[in-house]
Amino acid sequence: MTITRQDAAALDRADPLAGFRDEFELEEGLIYLDGNSLGPLPKSVPERLQSAIRDEWGRDLITSWNKNSWFDMPKRVGEMIAAIIGAGEGQVVAADGTSINLFKILAAALKMNPARHRIVSETGNFPTDLYIAQGLQDLVGNSACELVLAGEEDILSAVDDQTALVMITQTNFRSGRMHDMKAMTRAIHDKGALVCWDLCHSAGAFPVDLDGCNADFAVGCGYKYLNGGPGAPAFLYVAKRHQEKAVQPLSGWHGHSAPFAFETGYKPAVGIERFLCGTQPVLSMIALHEAMKMWSRVDMNQLRKKSMALTDLFIDLVENRCADIGFELASPRDANTRGSQVSFSHEDGYPIMQALIAANVIGDFRAPDILRFGFTPLYTRYVDVWDAVDRLSDIMLNKKYDTPEFRQKSAVT
Ligand SMILES: *Cc1c(COP(=O)(O)O)cnc(C)c1O
Repeated sequence: MTITRQDAAALDRADPLAGFRDEFELEEGLIYLDGNSLGPLPKSVPERLQSAIRDEWGRDLITSWNKNSWFDMPKRVGEMIAAIIGAGEGQVVAADGTSINLFKILAAALKMNPARHRIVSETGNFPTDLYIAQGLQDLVGNSACELVLAGEEDILSAVDDQTALVMITQTNFRSGRMHDMKAMTRAIHDKGALVCWDLCHSAGAFPVDLDGCNADFAVGCGYKYLNGGPGAPAFLYVAKRHQEKAVQPLSGWHGHSAPFAFETGYKPAVGIERFLCGTQPVLSMIALHEAMKMWSRVDMNQLRKKSMALTDLFIDLVENRCADIGFELASPRDANTRGSQVSFSHEDGYPIMQALIAANVIGDFRAPDILRFGFTPLYTRYVDVWDAVDRLSDIMLNKKYDTPEFRQKSAVT
C-alpha cells in the first residue's frame, strides 16, 4: 500500500522546512526536479542584482571594490559556503568554476609530494573532472602526472605508493550513490596519499563535514543545490594545514600576497587567498551571495531527513504505480548511501523524460538510459513527488512518450 495524495499533503503540513518554498520563484503547476543541475531563482536575488547594477556599478563605479566590498567577496561568500560543508574559517573561497578549481588543486597537490605522480579517480566520475586531470597530464607529461582510473568499489585498491592524490566525487552524478567521506579519507591517508572531494552534488544536498573527516581538498558548484544562478562561481576548500605548502599554477594577481603593490614577481598570498586567480564576475558573485543567505536558517539535519523521505517516497511510488514497464532503479535503495537524487534506467529514457517535461515535470536525462530526478528539500513538497509519479504513470500506461517529437534529441539533455 502506497500513500495517497492526502497523506502526502499531511506530510507537507508537518514539514519544518515547508516555509522555504515561498522564497523561490516557482510557477504554480511546475514540478521542478532538476535543482541538482540548476537551482531555481531565490525571490530576493533580482532586487539585490538590480541595486548592485544601478547603485554599485552605475553610481559608485570603481569605488565599489572598497565601498561595496566587492574585493573580498570570494572570501565572504566562501565563509558562507564553509558553514554548510563543515569547514572552519579561512579554508574556503568562492571563485571561478569547478573545473578550473580542480585544475588548481590537482596541480598543487601533485607539487606537494614530488615523490609521487599518480592521481587516482573513478571511471564513472563526472567527465569534466577526468578531462581536467587528462589536460594536466598532457601539460606536464606522464612521469609527473598519471591519471589512474578504477571502478567505484576499487578506488582504494588502486591507491599505491605512487599515488599523490585521490580525486573523488562524493555523490555520483548518474546514480546518486554516496561515498563514505570519513572512512575513505582515513584509508587514503593510511596509504600516504591526499584526497580531493568533489562536492558538486553534496553541498546544499546534505550535511558535509570536511574538517571532521580530515579532508585535504574539496571543490564544488554554486549553481546546483546552492541556487547561485546559471554559471555561478564555484568554491574550493584547502585544509589549513596544507595552505603553506600548497601553491597553485594559475598565479593571477588576486592570488598574490599584495595585488596592489604591482610587483613584477609572483608571491602567493598567505592563506586560502592564494587559490584565487583574477577578477571575479562580480554580478554573479552577488547573486550567489544573496542566494547563500537563506542557508544560515536551514537545519542541515532536517534537510537530510526530508531528502531521504522524499527520495524513498519517489522510489516507492514509481515501483508501485509504474511496475513491470521497464524501470530499473539505478540509485542505491538504502537512503543512507544515496544523495538527494533518484535515477531510474529505462530503454526509452530519453523520450519519457521529454514527455514528462511536456507534462511540466522537469528532470533530466543522462546517457545512455538514465532518467534523473533531483529532490531538493528546500522547495520540493511531498505532493510534488506524488503528482510527478501520477503524471509519469499516465505517460507510461498510455504510452504518451512514444512520438517522433519526444525522440528528437536536443543539444542539452
Ligand atoms: C556539475 C559538476 C561539475 C561542473 O563543472 P563546471 O566547471 O562548473 O562546469 C563538475 N564536477 C561534477 C562532479 C559535477 O557534478
